[in-house]
Amino acid sequence: MSDIVQRLKAAQDAVARAAVDMGRQARDVTLIAVSKTMPEEAILQALEAGHRVFGENYVQEAKAKWPALKERFPDAEVHMIGPLQSNKVREAVALFDAIHSLDRDSLAKELAREIARAARAPTLFVQVNTGEEPQKGGVMPGEVDGFLETCRIHHGLAIEGLMCIPPAEEPPSPHFALLAKIAARHKLRGLSMGMSADYEAAIQLGATHVRIGSAIFGPRG
Ligand SMILES: *Cc1c(COP(=O)(O)O)cnc(C)c1O
Repeated sequence: MSDIVQRLKAAQDAVARAAVDMGRQARDVTLIAVSKTMPEEAILQALEAGHRVFGENYVQEAKAKWPALKERFPDAEVHMIGPLQSNKVREAVALFDAIHSLDRDSLAKELAREIARAARAPTLFVQVNTGEEPQKGGVMPGEVDGFLETCRIHHGLAIEGLMCIPPAEEPPSPHFALLAKIAARHKLRGLSMGMSADYEAAIQLGATHVRIGSAIFGPRG
């Protein structure tokens, strides 16, 4: 078994164990293998080992790698987890099965327009800037209620859940708990939270999607 496949299996086992420990089913938590910056050969190892859900951060990179891979593995899913520019929405709706970074009205408007035009609707997560960091994407916690309402009522978008990236220098759990609280208030099922260093804590606080990169593919160059 290659290092990537070995680490993938270990992560799959750890995710399943964390879910079961919380009285949930293993299948209630989706492991998104974050393959940004990784070459096709690395992704192929995970695909050939049976993994099907991947995350990418950049539209251009995903466009270069994934159409060929999806031809070979038609049931593979690719999730956009990085910031999305409004002028990349057409490509993003064509490429991605889910978008985790919906965070502003102009983007919601473009997505709604393109989803109607293309008759293809990726699963949508609203990103919340739980740490209120100025340089980071995401809707401020105090503005989530209004933004969700705008998405739903004004743009007719179905929102699956919320996503966050806690500040690097803080303990992540309070951020996961805040995200879970906001989601519960809106009866949103999806919670995209937890990365290589903290996905078990995220699952304890209700994560439905964990985004794991370096713990599977190794450090990014
Ligand atoms: C890169 C990235 C990840 C994966 O990070 P690791 O620490 O390598 O697991 C998860 N989520 C987002 C939004 C990312 O950009």
